[in-house]
Amino acid sequence: MGKLDAVRKGPIKTVLVNGAECEPFITSDHRMMLENSDLIVEGVELLRKFLGSEEFIIGIEKNKPDAIEKLTKVFANDPAVTVKPLKSVYPQGAKQVLLYNATGKVVGEGQRLASLGVIIINVSSLAKMALFIRTGMPLVDKYVTVDGSAVKSPKNFIIPIGTPTSYVIEQVGGFSCEPGKVIFGGPMMGKCISSLDRPVIKATNAIVALSEKDSRALEPTTCIHCGRCANVCPIGLNPTIYAKAMENEDEAERFALLDKSKVQLCIECGCCSYVCPARRPLVDTNKNAKRFARSYKAALAEKEGGKS
Ligand code: SF4
Ligand code: SF4
Repeated sequence: MGKLDAVRKGPIKTVLVNGAECEPFITSDHRMMLENSDLIVEGVELLRKFLGSEEFIIGIEKNKPDAIEKLTKVFANDPAVTVKPLKSVYPQGAKQVLLYNATGKVVGEGQRLASLGVIIINVSSLAKMALFIRTGMPLVDKYVTVDGSAVKSPKNFIIPIGTPTSYVIEQVGGFSCEPGKVIFGGPMMGKCISSLDRPVIKATNAIVALSEKDSRALEPTTCIHCGRCANVCPIGLNPTIYAKAMENEDEAERFALLDKSKVQLCIECGCCSYVCPARRPLVDTNKNAKRFARSYKAALAEKEGGKS
């Protein structure tokens, strides 16, 4: 409830429920919407009481027509709730993208969504919150998609938190081939795990295992200045600037360039890396650049503080 506590000070007119689930392979929220529409109704009711919100928009990608139909039906008599079909495109579920596509609003740099009178809550979090209020049962399990080119029989499961990944993989009949990597989350933003002993945690919505062929990182070549990375960025950033800045050995200059070109706004969606014909690892460079800019800024602030 931390997110909700933080917004109690200001009026929240609009609640945006994120049912977009845009990463390849992941369908756990989709299943949850089909099977738990009663909890979504209860969750909306709770937020209406808790926040006094007047408008609820449930954003769902158009490739889930059954979920759109189901939720449109259950909210047919509630004029405050709109089920909004969204274009099925990655990264539709990113908060800035969802906010713009569902409401036409833009969140400025350093601005909190709550200052626009909006909060975004994931559809599964909403349902789990309602279940907790209904039964007192805390978060003990998760809808998890198990899929990928190395998975024998892809499925969605309700998995107790703490279950080892190896046990989950056994339930899909094992691997169909030697996996090149196993990811918690989707292939665009998920994190590779180094051992199948790793347990499912509260943030796990998918376990994706990719074959060696699909995991292979191709050798990067020189940037050909095609501009595709900048054109595809949903935030309007230019990742070639970050790559250039990270080559600069002068840390003050490097920081100045990264800061000016807004590296901290990068949402690490990976679209730029995906479209790059030179196979440059742009998203990894962006992550390093963000880390560098953050620590440089903190060191600067500490130095300034020490002077006063
Ligand atoms: S990862 Fe690339 S495409 Fe995504 S927000 Fe960052 S710079 Fe833009
Ligand atoms: S997409 Fe790749 S090759 Fe094209 S400008 Fe960006 S980094 Fe260079």
